[in-house]
Amino acid sequence: MKIGLRGGHSPNCKGAMGIIDEQAEVRKIYHALKTILESAGHIVIDCNSDARYATAELKEGTDKANAAGCDVYMSIHMNAASNPAAGGTEIFLYDTCNLMMNQTAGNICNKFAQAGFANRGVKFSTGYHDLSASAMPAMIVETLFCTSVEDTGRYFRIGVDRIAQVIAEGFTGKAIGAPDIPILNTCKGEITMVCFYRITDLDKDKIYYFDGHHSYPLMHPDERKVLNEIYKANNGKDIPEFFWTSKAPWFARLKGALDETASNFFVR
Ligand SMILES: [Zn+2]
Repeated sequence: MKIGLRGGHSPNCKGAMGIIDEQAEVRKIYHALKTILESAGHIVIDCNSDARYATAELKEGTDKANAAGCDVYMSIHMNAASNPAAGGTEIFLYDTCNLMMNQTAGNICNKFAQAGFANRGVKFSTGYHDLSASAMPAMIVETLFCTSVEDTGRYFRIGVDRIAQVIAEGFTGKAIGAPDIPILNTCKGEITMVCFYRITDLDKDKIYYFDGHHSYPLMHPDERKVLNEIYKANNGKDIPEFFWTSKAPWFARLKGALDETASNFFVR
């Protein structure tokens, strides 16, 4: 996967200044993360900037990712608050409609939580340049609060390399070095998550249609036919069909994502 990676802000246009310097520390995380992702077989495009103004460094980042045709854009940051008790990890996505991005962002938050950081969860905003100006799925990873004694203490205890590993493992969804999982885009690109599937051990004749957001049980074989014809007219190929069992990892993962995250991700 080609990953556009931005290590938050420019040395000539700093980010947040708390107990630690966001820009300086995040640039360290960037270098460690780049090494890990590259050793896992990914291509990392350097989307950092030395610009003097926020608008210029933001634009340079997304311009570099767009020019390189990245599959995903990841912008790493540290949060800040006037309340020193505020802490934890949160990730911003542009919107709710990319299942894989939702899962990936959730994974990263969970990995940070396992490392001791409060899980502030996945959030959505169309107002951030990183998310709106990138031509590919994008995320802003607010790793921790640079204004928090607790977060910065933990950051120094576990170290830059461990923080980078937490992001990398959450991002890939598996141990570093395992095969690549594509980030399938349902919003801004051409690849979609649409499929038919059956749960063969429950009812092998029951066909479900997954539109990238929700699963729908089909009531009649003609529904499958008409959905496939529309899809084929648009995409030039048939909707893929999967035969899963109720215990299959992919079914469980899809079902889990739809059930447990529905209130957060899909019903807005
Ligand atoms: Zn920042």
